Amino acid sequence: MKTHYDVLIAGGGPAGLSAAYTAASAGLQVALFERSKEIGYPIHTSGGSWIHELRALGVPDRYMHPIRTGRFIAPAAEAEFSYEEPPSCILDVRGLYQYLAVLAAQAGAAIFPGCQVEAALCTNGRPQGLRVRARGDFFAPLLIDASGIAGVIAKQLGLRGEFARYGVGAEADVVAPQWPQDTIAFLFGSVAVPAGYGWIFPHGENRVRVGIGVIRPDGSCEPRSALMNLLTTAHARFNCEARGIIELHSGSIPSVAPMARASSHGVLVVGDAAALISTLLGEGIRFAIALGRWAGEVAAQAHHAGRFDADFLVRYDKGWRTRYGRMFSWAQKINRRIATYDDRQWNEKIKMLSELPARAIPPLLQGEWANRALLNAVWRRRKTLGHTLLKSVASWS
Ligand SMILES: Cc1cc2nc3c(=O)[nH]c(=O)nc-3n(C[C@H](O)[C@H](O)[C@H](O)COP(=O)(O)OP(=O)(O)OC[C@H]3O[C@@H](n4cnc5c(N)ncnc54)[C@H](O)[C@@H]3O)c2cc1C
Repeated sequence: MKTHYDVLIAGGGPAGLSAAYTAASAGLQVALFERSKEIGYPIHTSGGSWIHELRALGVPDRYMHPIRTGRFIAPAAEAEFSYEEPPSCILDVRGLYQYLAVLAAQAGAAIFPGCQVEAALCTNGRPQGLRVRARGDFFAPLLIDASGIAGVIAKQLGLRGEFARYGVGAEADVVAPQWPQDTIAFLFGSVAVPAGYGWIFPHGENRVRVGIGVIRPDGSCEPRSALMNLLTTAHARFNCEARGIIELHSGSIPSVAPMARASSHGVLVVGDAAALISTLLGEGIRFAIALGRWAGEVAAQAHHAGRFDADFLVRYDKGWRTRYGRMFSWAQKINRRIATYDDRQWNEKIKMLSELPARAIPPLLQGEWANRALLNAVWRRRKTLGHTLLKSVASWS
């Protein structure tokens, strides 16, 4: 078995697969190791995303279940927005991740499912390769840590520790024929759980992902029991009768600002492993694809320059920070604030939200706070919305 490559990647989620694709497309010898036996399964995400942004990344429409209506439900307030052209979607997660794997394999990357990375191999503290359980040692001058929240290489090399703040989620993929298949709902305050939120995400053929996420350590509630509670009451409260559970999902997501530096000598850290996500509502998939591809491009540049030192690889950090750095850090600040909201505050905020026009909502949730439609909408409603929101939006942009 071949043991020497140009790049070794730990983790076959969207970040790792996307890095493998661009690095292999540039002619590099790439090996990717995924601990699960199947790419895209088990599912650890609810797969909400944005159609326009995914199309821009080349994601085919067949993996997107379109959403026309969004409901935001607090204990005593609700905002609902509908769109002729669906702006958002719920992904066929397994289908999309396997599609990303096909792209990477077609570009020439070797993908090894069922292979857990145990450790980075280092000489004089410098990474040289990976030790893979039951497969042995593999070598390359550049490693990419795409192992999600585990951050198996980044932690071993001391680039980060355990994330001090993170979200834990529990989700049931249920059959719910009464729930409209083009409508998502976000649930806040005691409708869901303190220091967290709930969601109802349909994804086709009467199937709906119902979930609860809790931020730790802000909230101590057990998401699985809150989920079971939500499922038993969802029929009466939202006309979302769960007639059968098809799958149970669980997962964790970083809820901190991105790593100050996600590169080091011979290493790039991508996706959740580096907290390169919008923590506003815990959205990471499109960033993992975009920045995974960027990591693969930087790997190719490093290979062609013959430079794997930290000074060269810092261009990776500059790239993600220029595009998303501000958004990630503001999303994190807002997430910290909303995690403390009680029912009264949620009612107030959702009422405020209901005063905005539908076109302002996608940029608001996407973290595109400098968006003209959003700023105009807020400015026009400055009297009803009050100065607090206006001041916040102005300072975020
Ligand atoms: C409950 C929940 C709901 C979410 N909902 C959404 C949503 O609606 N929309 C959205 O955009 N984002 C959502 N996210 C976030 C999104 O799932 C992540 O941001 C995204 O998956 C990050 O991609 P990644 O490739 O960095 O990491 P991951 O998708 O976590 O992939 C990491 C991969 O590495 C593998 N791995 C780990 N350790 C090792 C090892 N030692 N050796 C080999 N392989 C290893 C894992 O098995 C996994 O396949 C959600 C997350 C959670 C937990």
